[in-house]
Amino acid sequence: MDLTVLGCAGSFGAPGGGACSGYLLQSGDTSIWVDCGNGTFGHLQQHLAMEQLTAVILTHGHPDHCVDIYGLHVLLRYGLEIEGLPVFAPEGLEGYLLTLVSDFGDTFQWNAVGDGDTATVGDIALRFSRTDHPPPTYAVEARADGRRMIYTADTGPEWTVGAFDPGADLVLSEATYLHDHRPAPIHLSAKEAGEAAREANAQRLILTHLWPLNDPEVAAHEGAEAFGGQITLATPGLVVAV
Ligand SMILES: [Zn+2]
Ligand SMILES: [Zn+2]
Repeated sequence: MDLTVLGCAGSFGAPGGGACSGYLLQSGDTSIWVDCGNGTFGHLQQHLAMEQLTAVILTHGHPDHCVDIYGLHVLLRYGLEIEGLPVFAPEGLEGYLLTLVSDFGDTFQWNAVGDGDTATVGDIALRFSRTDHPPPTYAVEARADGRRMIYTADTGPEWTVGAFDPGADLVLSEATYLHDHRPAPIHLSAKEAGEAAREANAQRLILTHLWPLNDPEVAAHEGAEAFGGQITLATPGLVVAV
């Protein structure tokens, strides 16, 4: 199973074209676009023909995780004339997104996600867990080829990756803040991300969703110290074998 980072800027686009949250998860012929943050659709098309896209996951309705689904809708409906692409999203998000378009036609087949729900998309088995974030938000566990990764989506410290089984091969954790500056309790600091991943016995940790105003090197140091080992900072275009 391969993870490609399409964008990783926390909450707003970073200078120099830094897109917000978006990831491509692939195993065999299965390709899932996880979060459609602003700026990620262009990057997605550099890695995949849209005829090959198997499904979409939207972890929540904040714009930095979902607005590029409008671009996908236009391409599928009016360009490629593809219908019925599965989308996994919190209940009600389809209606919320419809406030900006008259309708999605039959482009997507919407699947409402709830806490503890599971789904199988091609070669990839999914499990969802409700995080500590104001709109309904779901972390994603993905298994394929005997490997397992967890993506935290956005979360405050009242939820941790410990909601899933320990020992994941990879944890992709939000790490919006530095620990001495946490303006709102709806995100993690790099320290909190590192601690939670260590407690969950994660084999590898990638920090993402960093606040663009902060120094990424400071976040990397803080996260690595808390994790007790090497970590990786997400960067656009990073490809990792889980
Ligand atoms: Zn976000
Ligand atoms: Zn959010």
